[in-house]
Amino acid sequence: MESTLLLVHTEADGALAKPALEALTAAIELGGELTVGLVGGAAEPAAKVAAAAGARRILAVTGEAYTQARYATDAAAAEAIARAAGAAIVLAPATARWSRALPGVAYRLGGRIDTHATGLAAREGAPAVTRWFYRQRMEAVLTRTARPWFVLIDTGCFAPWSGTPAGSATVEAVAVEVPQSRTTVTGIQAPKADEQTIRLDAKLLFVAGAGWTKKQADGTVHVAEAQQLILGALRGAQASLGGSKSLVDSTGEGEAVLPFMTHLNQIGQTGATPRHPKGLSTCCHGEEPHVVGWRFVTERRAINLDANCGWARGKADVLYVADAFEVMRHVNRMLEAQG
Ligand SMILES: Cc1cc2nc3c(=O)[nH]c(=O)nc-3n(C[C@H](O)[C@H](O)[C@H](O)COP(=O)(O)OP(=O)(O)OC[C@H]3O[C@@H](n4cnc5c(N)ncnc54)[C@H](O)[C@@H]3O)c2cc1C
Repeated sequence: MESTLLLVHTEADGALAKPALEALTAAIELGGELTVGLVGGAAEPAAKVAAAAGARRILAVTGEAYTQARYATDAAAAEAIARAAGAAIVLAPATARWSRALPGVAYRLGGRIDTHATGLAAREGAPAVTRWFYRQRMEAVLTRTARPWFVLIDTGCFAPWSGTPAGSATVEAVAVEVPQSRTTVTGIQAPKADEQTIRLDAKLLFVAGAGWTKKQADGTVHVAEAQQLILGALRGAQASLGGSKSLVDSTGEGEAVLPFMTHLNQIGQTGATPRHPKGLSTCCHGEEPHVVGWRFVTERRAINLDANCGWARGKADVLYVADAFEVMRHVNRMLEAQG
């Protein structure tokens, strides 16, 4: 197998986050001589992980300038490490940070880059990379002759490396002249934790469809209760919230709305394709452009009043033909009782 460089950025405490540990597993499974490149404020805890995982060399660019995600500094650090390592294959987790910086680095090195890799295999001493095309409808296996070949690995496709870190590690510091930058990070504004509705690591994807905002059997809409039931389910199950296109569009148009629902929640052909072990669709018809976003959801259930909805046509493992308001009132009571 060709030589591999795994590029990872470290967290504030110098440790590795889950996407980096998943990419480490991918690199080990691929085989070949492994160099690990670390970028961040500190490198030590991550270096001990890399040493225990069998990295032949550990290269690091550390310092205050590399604590923040910023194209200029991230690209400079990655370029310096890639040149020092001289590896044919450069793997990295598809974090926002690397997705932004590494295409430019591949260009600077005269290499190529592929994104959204979901699998890697060694084929005649070189990697074969699996990824999906056309909104997850077709799966392809790619090989390339151009080197260095950068590959960004999607999260959720490999088990995170879980060994015991080594007691010590030898780290080679790579010198980089901090590039001139116009970007100064002055702080981070993020929603409060309890306002967070997208949880990529959640075991359950809870999808709300437009039915929640439609007239119900009594001839009126019940948006306030819908909101309370959906948020209750999210809190109780620590689920991630998805929406159908119809629902997120109507929120944007200022109709009877669920204020916490945005286009970022949209699942489907023109939305997201998250990876959760389980999914529960509520008040959503289950049309193909929506369900295509469920490709990687392993176990699917749906609640719909309509026994002929799309979910009934082989798209869900279980369809409850029922009123989602009634079902979720009951489910939330059970979740509350569980504490
Ligand atoms: C090019 C293209 C791309 C698209 N991309 C996407 C995409 O990425 N994502 C996406 O979601 N859609 C997408 N669509 C739209 C998609 O085809 C559907 O129009 C959309 O998913 C419908 O949303 P819905 O099921 O929430 O709403 P509706 O079709 O209005 O269905 C509402 C459902 O709620 C049920 N319901 C109502 N009240 C209750 C209740 N009390 N209990 C239980 N069930 C109830 C009804 O029976 C109904 O089935 C796309 C379409 C096109 C043409």
